Amino acid sequence: MTIFAIANQKGGVGKTTTAVSLAGLAAERGGRQLLVDLDPQGSLTSYLRCDPERSEGGAYGQFCAAAEGKPADVAGAIVSTAAGLDLLPAHPALATLERRFGTRPGMGRVLAGLLAAVRDDYAHVWIDCPPTLGLLMINALAVCEQLVIPVQTEFLALKGLERMLASLAMVERSRGAPVPHRIVPTLFDRRTRASLDALDALHFQHRSRMTAEPIPVDTRFRAASEAGVPLSQLEPASRGAYGYRCLLADLLGEPSPPAPVRAEEALPA
Ligand code: ADP
Ligand code: MG
Repeated sequence: MTIFAIANQKGGVGKTTTAVSLAGLAAERGGRQLLVDLDPQGSLTSYLRCDPERSEGGAYGQFCAAAEGKPADVAGAIVSTAAGLDLLPAHPALATLERRFGTRPGMGRVLAGLLAAVRDDYAHVWIDCPPTLGLLMINALAVCEQLVIPVQTEFLALKGLERMLASLAMVERSRGAPVPHRIVPTLFDRRTRASLDALDALHFQHRSRMTAEPIPVDTRFRAASEAGVPLSQLEPASRGAYGYRCLLADLLGEPSPPAPVRAEEALPA
């Protein structure tokens, strides 16, 4: 089992989309995939047609049990979704964990303990983080083997990246080891100066950490979220699905797959 965390302290940069897309594509290759929703907003949970308000026993209940020294039952708290992906759902009360348990010793390793119980059940785990540095994100950064940092290709998002990297450096000091991480430019629109400039700036500052292909803006992501499935299930040959195919290959240490020939591009001009 390999554990990936998807994190950035900025909202709306494509974290949840990245988590669903990567899990969907990894599932196509075979092997069970577990998505963990640590965002109290529960976007990933809602995306997969699960109601966060009714998911008290999910990530929230498991954290509480572990924090209070009661037996946790992660396997029992995981739901299988219509998209074929397993989910440990979020509940809004996740936002209260910090206040209730934030100062207890060992709280940064709760998720590590929970995931150890399902280690043999999954090929990959994808943790969708909240956009704040707190107990939940710390748990994800402490347990992940690879961190994926989606960064929207616009000027303000680059500032957010610096903040995220500073938080990562802090966690690395307490882990006593570096956390391998990849910076993924998202919502890239090659027709706009802002996107091109932001991509240039990212390459200039973080070349060795960058993935080869930015994730393009693709309106079909919205249709996929409305359908409650990863884009690759809805539109396998879409630009967006290809972007995430390249990202998954990158994370697994493989070369980028060949680009699909899309019908509209194959037509004579
Ligand atoms: P985050 O989890 O970082 O808050 P989301 O993944 O929820 O971000 O994405 C924010 C919004 O942008 C969603 O409506 C999502 O459908 C849309 N979105 C994400 N990535 C893309 C993309 N590559 N192209 C078009 N829309 C996207
Ligand atoms: Mg999100």
